[in-house]
Amino acid sequence: MKEALYYSVIDKEKKTVGCVLCPHNCKIQPGKTGACRARKNIDGILQSLVYGEFASVNLDPIEKKPLYHFYPRTHILSVGTTGCNLRCQHCQNWEISQSDYNPEIMRSLSPEEAVSMAKRYKSIGIAYTYNEPLINYEWVAETAKLARGEALKNVLVTNGFINEQPWENLLPLIDAANIDVKSFKNDFYKSACGAEIGPVLRSVEIMFKRGKHVEVTYLVIPGKNDSEHEIADFVDWLSSLSPEIPVHFSRYFPQYKMKEETTPVKTMELARRVAMKRMKYVYLGNI
Ligand code: SF4
Repeated sequence: MKEALYYSVIDKEKKTVGCVLCPHNCKIQPGKTGACRARKNIDGILQSLVYGEFASVNLDPIEKKPLYHFYPRTHILSVGTTGCNLRCQHCQNWEISQSDYNPEIMRSLSPEEAVSMAKRYKSIGIAYTYNEPLINYEWVAETAKLARGEALKNVLVTNGFINEQPWENLLPLIDAANIDVKSFKNDFYKSACGAEIGPVLRSVEIMFKRGKHVEVTYLVIPGKNDSEHEIADFVDWLSSLSPEIPVHFSRYFPQYKMKEETTPVKTMELARRVAMKRMKYVYLGNI
């Protein structure tokens, strides 16, 4: 465990704390965890339960993140813990993202060990991925700093649902990210993910404006976010940042609590055609 950054004590007597890492801004009583299940109030101190504890550690092709325009044909050490600050009904990694912290399935890895492992396997750097890495902010920030000192790259694969200040403070250490935009409608974010779209779009905008490499993934779900109109709105917004941002439309398969049929290939092709009117690099995944 590690004492969390970005929280304050909001009731000294009752030992209640307020976490301001992500826009949920959880108020957490002693003994309880925040909505992400990764940060727990222990006797009035907010602790990161997942600091240095990993459910998945692999050496992946960078294209698997997916990042197609960032050191292609290289491999990257990829690490993930458990928990998430979103509740997506269609989560593809729900076994780890929607589970409570469970020491039995975790292996420990310090920032120093991760950096030396990345060097040993000739990885270009470290990808913070699989579940939502930003809920493991403290470990990511420490490791990214060490990795930067060893000329390794730092990559995030994130839902982008983070408050502005912690995001701004982390970005100097980050080289690239793939950020999910799950829909272009707030209603979808609310009903399917338990979140809001505004902070996600803001995270993409901030990262791009800081000159970092950004790619965006949009999982296309039949009847939920696949209308021509919604895809056009999404690419209008993204192209207003830059038509050069790579876009990945990913094909949905029924997962977790969402039972919609698998996305037809023709829907994926339509999404690509619509996006290609505005964007230069549009890819289809999971086909
Ligand atoms: S990071 Fe976790 S504990 Fe903090 S506000 Fe977000 S969901 Fe709540």
